[in-house]
Amino acid sequence: MNRLLRRSGPALQRLCGRHYSAPAAAAIPTPSAQPEVHFNKLFINNEWQDAASGRTFPTINPSTGEVICQVAEADQADVNRAVKAARDAFRFGSPWRRMDASHRGLLLNKLANAIESNAAYLAELETLDNGKPYAISYSVDLPNVVKCLRYYAGWADKWEGKTIPIDGDFFCYTRHEPVGVCGQIIPWNFPLLMQAWKLGPALATGNTVVMKVAEQTPLTALFVANLIKEVGFPEGVVNILPGLGPSAGAAISRHMDVDKVAFTGSTEVGHLIQQASGSSNLKRVTLELGGKSPNIVMADADMAYAVEQSHFALFFNQGQCCCAGSRTYVQADIYDEFVERSAARAKRRVVGDPFDLRTEQGPQVDQEQFNKILGYISTGKKEGARLMCGGGVAADRGYFIQPTVFGDVQDNMTIAREEIFGPVMQILKFKTVEEVIERANDSQYGLAAAVFTKDLDKAHYVSNGLRAGTVWINCYDVFGAQAPFGGYKASGNGRELGEYGLEGYTEVKTVTIKVPQKNS
Ligand code: NAD
Ligand code: MG
Repeated sequence: MNRLLRRSGPALQRLCGRHYSAPAAAAIPTPSAQPEVHFNKLFINNEWQDAASGRTFPTINPSTGEVICQVAEADQADVNRAVKAARDAFRFGSPWRRMDASHRGLLLNKLANAIESNAAYLAELETLDNGKPYAISYSVDLPNVVKCLRYYAGWADKWEGKTIPIDGDFFCYTRHEPVGVCGQIIPWNFPLLMQAWKLGPALATGNTVVMKVAEQTPLTALFVANLIKEVGFPEGVVNILPGLGPSAGAAISRHMDVDKVAFTGSTEVGHLIQQASGSSNLKRVTLELGGKSPNIVMADADMAYAVEQSHFALFFNQGQCCCAGSRTYVQADIYDEFVERSAARAKRRVVGDPFDLRTEQGPQVDQEQFNKILGYISTGKKEGARLMCGGGVAADRGYFIQPTVFGDVQDNMTIAREEIFGPVMQILKFKTVEEVIERANDSQYGLAAAVFTKDLDKAHYVSNGLRAGTVWINCYDVFGAQAPFGGYKASGNGRELGEYGLEGYTEVKTVTIKVPQKNS
């Protein structure tokens, strides 16, 4: 760790890209770098259970590479038990099915309150298991978890059907019913937030859940499981399984008694999930997958602001964001200066101990991601991109990588086409608006995009031309529980968050009643 670059005091606002309503730095409690782990088993039917096989796997502290603890490893037998519990909880007439919608909302609000009360501890545990800076866990991830659950708590008794004027003497209405048992498979980059994005809409609409958490970061989700029990969710409504993808994850996605799978992760595994649905029971599938999001900087943009925002767009969360702005297209007139300034900013990025409140960048999540990112850096160099800064390992232990900037990147280079998921920025040059729209869309992905310009006509024109589920104009990574998020093309199916996010968890039932007419 002694070789880590350290600098003093970047404002928290800068850590958070200026767009999160973060508390003042002074309000962040001093964290413990060794939070106690209270839960490491499977959570099925509101009970803690060992895996049927008795197997466990280690979860690793990415800052040191050391084992934090062993965690029960679910496989197919455990998935079967959890699905049965979720199915029982979902049976017609069960406490959960008979619960007033407003009461479901109340339980979600209680869960949000319980998480808020434990925010400092949960942020410590998140930082320990994932490596993200504590200042971010505490002031970005945790508040957004709470807001997401509160937002969906409000929807629980407001997700209304319609009355429909069909022809004839009939009264026709729709009911919005839960889909049933929902498998939810989540990744490691925002463990608590992804859990909230999945649980909020599923529970507001009355589904039951079997969630498989990522093997790299199982700990915080298990602590939340305990809160779920404490606040009074009935048995079997939420079941949480740590386990591996090809065993536990695959068992969920091919299960004949799972009605829906919601997945966030790689496009590669997204294909497998969709195939498993097709070859099992055609369960409903929603997917939030990878990206290679274009971030377009026009010559008329405010240079200092665009440099800072583009830096944030790529480097936030150690570059481990599905929507990272990982193709930075800069207009020719300002290209050289932008590249220089971006490299200077990246060199100033504070990499180090994630429990140090000054740290902007912690370690990558695991050895596999670390190796993969270093591999992309070496491919970038081989393919002729210009390495402006970084390019190597940033510490003598743990999975720290130097903030890296490549200039002179061409569209056909591997680093401009594939998702790197690390602190590696690609800056490309463009001349005209038409050209950049076409090049930005030349990707299998379509998750997010951004444009920086002072000309709003141009901004709207470019935004309309971009094939992406989210477009940010003069900002980046601005999320709200109220606004939908999801991908075009190979970046996914369906939307999470907002009212649209409820649709993925709802079956629409049409009920038609004969209304006898007088004298007929
Ligand atoms: P992954 O897709 O393998 O893992 C995501 C989740 O899917 C984890 O819970 C994992 O256990 C599970 N999973 C893995 N294989 C599965 C299978 N066959 N069936 C069912 N579930 C399965 O992602 P990863 O290997 O951790 O990371 C690889 C790449 O994926 C990253 O480099 C990045 O490009 C991308 N990724 C994207 C996101 C995102 O937010 N969209 C998150 C994490 C990773
Ligand atoms: Mg994997």
